[in-house]
Amino acid sequence: MLDDLGEHVRRERQVARKLRRTRWWHNLRDNSNCHYCSEPLTKSRATMDHVVALRLGGRSTKDNIVPCCLPCNRKKRDDYMVDWFRKTF
Ligand SMILES: [Zn+2]
Repeated sequence: MLDDLGEHVRRERQVARKLRRTRWWHNLRDNSNCHYCSEPLTKSRATMDHVVALRLGGRSTKDNIVPCCLPCNRKKRDDYMVDWFRKTF
């Protein structure tokens, strides 16, 4: 099971790397606020976040990826979003 998960995470990280080079992501990143704290994003502050973490079975699909600022991404880490919200708000 753990090996399967490792393989899943590896594969989805590769997909995410490719998505980072797409116009879809550049548009999203350059015209959005942080998904969590609503601060305006800049190129240097924006990070790609998986709403459902890869380790929890999330995938690198456009509906599971949101732009967020570096501090929020660090805070959230791999926590599942619902848990994170419960702890944070
Ligand atoms: Zn933020």
